[in-house]
Amino acid sequence: MSSYETACRYFDQASRQVGLSKNMQDLLRTPEREVKVEVAIERDNGEIATYIGYRVQHDSSRGPMKGGLRFHPEVNGDEVLALASLMTWKTALVNIPYGGAKGGISVDTSKLSQGELERVTRKFIDKIYDVIGPLKDIPAPDMGTNAQVMAWIMNQYEKYRGFNPACVTGKPLELHGADGREEATGRGVAMVTRDTLDHMKIDMTGVTVAIQGFGNVGSYTAHFLDEFGAKIVAVSDASGGIYSADGINIPKLIEYTKDTGAVKGFPETEALSNEELLTSNVTVLIPAALGGVLTKDIAKEVKARCIIEAANNPTVPEADEIFDKNGVIVVPDILANAGGVTVSYFEWVQNRQHFSWEKSRVRSELDRIMNDSFKLVWKIATDKKVSLRVAAYILGIGRVGRATVLGGI
Ligand code: GLU
Repeated sequence: MSSYETACRYFDQASRQVGLSKNMQDLLRTPEREVKVEVAIERDNGEIATYIGYRVQHDSSRGPMKGGLRFHPEVNGDEVLALASLMTWKTALVNIPYGGAKGGISVDTSKLSQGELERVTRKFIDKIYDVIGPLKDIPAPDMGTNAQVMAWIMNQYEKYRGFNPACVTGKPLELHGADGREEATGRGVAMVTRDTLDHMKIDMTGVTVAIQGFGNVGSYTAHFLDEFGAKIVAVSDASGGIYSADGINIPKLIEYTKDTGAVKGFPETEALSNEELLTSNVTVLIPAALGGVLTKDIAKEVKARCIIEAANNPTVPEADEIFDKNGVIVVPDILANAGGVTVSYFEWVQNRQHFSWEKSRVRSELDRIMNDSFKLVWKIATDKKVSLRVAAYILGIGRVGRATVLGGI
């Protein structure tokens, strides 16, 4: 099943629950615009390299469209469309005044020099600058992109439109970025994990956690959960996984990965495969890497009592059904990882007001939005006797649907 079919399956489940008409379903599901461009650069050795770039603008009924840019070899039009639709429901769910979009380039950044990465980024903006902008569509980081890439995007966009820091978020602090944006997705995941455990009446102190992925989201999630008293016993990245029944020393692991670039070989841990991590004997499982990792076969073996989807689209629908049947609580991506786009919104607000906030304000406003959104989704799930995922979609689709009708077709 393709990524977009997966996203549509979840959308359809929620649409049925709220009795959305077929015409309305078609309208909300269809993307407003899909852009596919050639991104050609000269490599350092003088050869020409040609990549394909995408920007999908899914819905703008609630405001300018918003979503990250993913640089990864597996990026394709179907996946970008699926992720763009998730952004529409995600921004609506946390009630920030945006629509949804997503973009990406199908490229392996590990094979590019810094100069080549910069040229790819600038060339991509040359191709799409006309369809993005602070009041149209605002890119941000996602897998394979970071604050430096956002700085190049701002600089390239400004060559066409003049000073415009709100045209992109996730920028470096020295260039109109927001203090607290880098940690935001991981912090939000940790907040939602705490809320989930509270509602399940499980004590946070010493609770066992496995995290798949130790990039920006996985490492900050680990950092905050460690701070909240959880015991992180398993962590993995593309190089493999590590396990320690006594709990992994997270501050030291973060230092270690800064030096070595991978979790593999971290002292006082045993090696474990990615599959072993997903099925390990823990209370909380957090997929924080690629989509589609929780397959039907893996789902049958999962022992965790709750899954917090830090990654986008990590659970295939058949696995979701198994979790539902087995009573495993799944906190869906559009709620669990919404902290990133929420603080992107704060960055955009600060840029537009030319007034910067203290980090403490960013954190407390983020915590409030995550906690309030969690409570609302939990309540809908309880009242309607549906999963948290269906409840989250009901909330998101409801807000987008009402905005669409009020605005007029
Ligand atoms: N890429 C992140 C996401 O999937 C953040 C998007 C943003 O900040 O606009 O939610």
